[in-house]
Amino acid sequence: MEPEKPRTVTGAVIAVDASSFCYRVCSACERTLSDSSNGCRSCDFRAFNPGTTGSRRVYRILVSIACEAEVFVVICFDRAARVLFGCSADEFFDFVKRNPFAAMAAGKVLEGELFRMTLSKPKNGNAQHLRVASIAPLRSDFEPAIVALRRLYGVVS
Ligand SMILES: [Zn+2]
Repeated sequence: MEPEKPRTVTGAVIAVDASSFCYRVCSACERTLSDSSNGCRSCDFRAFNPGTTGSRRVYRILVSIACEAEVFVVICFDRAARVLFGCSADEFFDFVKRNPFAAMAAGKVLEGELFRMTLSKPKNGNAQHLRVASIAPLRSDFEPAIVALRRLYGVVS
């Protein structure tokens, strides 16, 4: 099978799936941790870093994009999602914990925003969504979601 070249498109965000936007990984080896597990099975992180939890959150979020005549769902992993959200997944997770509707509001904030993005076919042939390899807002005064949300919620930081 011929690997498809990444394609660069300009599209508008039409929806962000706020129901699930991140997952936990081991902060040492970056392997995915299940929600119930307390530690990493793949490395002995705690042995070397006592007193830390050894995990961090990274983004994985589905975004619907309208681009010319097409609408499709792409998946944003950590690097791309940070451009949209303007903070780490851990920070956003904490923000959502304090402000329960913030995840939904972030979707609303980003709706209609135009981005130039490079989409690549996942290496894993089973993955159903194109992934966003890189993304950049078209608007020079683009505000990442967290900036707008902090203002919206009156959080000074
Ligand atoms: Zn690990």
